[in-house]
Amino acid sequence: MIKAFKYRLYPNAHQARELEIALETHRRLYNARLEQRKAAYELEKKSVKYAEQSSWFKHERSTNPYFARLNFSSAQATMRRLDKAFQAFFRRIKAGEKPGYPRFKARGRFDSWTYPAHGDGARLLHDQLRFQHVGLVKVRQHRPVEGAVKIVQVKNEAGRWFVIASCDIGDGPAPRAEDTSVGLDVGLEYFLSTDQGERVNNPRYQKEALRRLRIAGRAVSRKRKGGRNRAKAVARLRAIQARVANKRRDHHHKVARDLVSRYAFIAAESLTVRNRVRNRRLSRSISDAGWRQFLNILRAKAESAGSVLVEVPPQGISQACSGCGAVVRKALSVRTHKCPACSLRLQRDVNAARNILARGQARLESVRLNVAQ
Ligand SMILES: [Zn+2]
Repeated sequence: MIKAFKYRLYPNAHQARELEIALETHRRLYNARLEQRKAAYELEKKSVKYAEQSSWFKHERSTNPYFARLNFSSAQATMRRLDKAFQAFFRRIKAGEKPGYPRFKARGRFDSWTYPAHGDGARLLHDQLRFQHVGLVKVRQHRPVEGAVKIVQVKNEAGRWFVIASCDIGDGPAPRAEDTSVGLDVGLEYFLSTDQGERVNNPRYQKEALRRLRIAGRAVSRKRKGGRNRAKAVARLRAIQARVANKRRDHHHKVARDLVSRYAFIAAESLTVRNRVRNRRLSRSISDAGWRQFLNILRAKAESAGSVLVEVPPQGISQACSGCGAVVRKALSVRTHKCPACSLRLQRDVNAARNILARGQARLESVRLNVAQ
């Protein structure tokens, strides 16, 4: 299965010029090859094959300095692209249609080229793209690629540069053992806890980001309204917020990927903020965890992996005993669940996660019964 990942490129001025030259050279190569095919067809009623054009390119490189600077495989990819246009053209003629002859590409109508083998001419590194003849261009990978990069495409959209990495992510989800299920409790101390006592920590950037957001927020409120300095301070605050949001989304994707790869059934509590949490600082740390966004990402991944996600309302989740169902009242500061009825002792969040799993399974059962009736 092939999945594409698109990232913004940030070339410096020199690199941007090199990329523009490369794009223009690919465009001219495309048009020159089209001209050759056209002439051969009109003058001699014969068609030119891709293999011929590709072998001409080897000679042209020795005399054309622009062609000499193209990566060979990427030039072949551009010639193949034209070849595909012609194959489609001839296919339609055979089918009795009257297709338009393949067209020359005007500037602005040709916006990309391709490296058909990752590593040959372009290699995607963590935060850079290494280009032959151009060097290391900065990449913002807002989320990591999955699988192995196979093909790299470089694209210009309205003056902005992008890289599109086509990755082989294998034959869908890995097979899971039957009956793997998990309950998820959203935490204050932890991002989440499972019914098995496994914990995902809140990422460390979060605390650091909170501190910087507070400083940037104070800077905004100190500046005069409508002034230029205030606008600058607002822009800084926005930039920090955007970075935090990106990192948070990455973290959510990573955790969700891991969960759907291991569990066929996932029960999670459904609300962003529990009603009983009124403390402003705590509720901020909950909202920072972005539980709602996480659940949306988890749902999308579960669907494409064939897992089931059931959301469960959290009322009474941490007060009920997961062993016997007795209600054991406890304040938020009490971190251990101790049941006087059945003498079960568990971490508070693990007890909650077990209740969530049980409720999720009960919901799934009732849905199945309704469908059966
Ligand atoms: Zn109990």
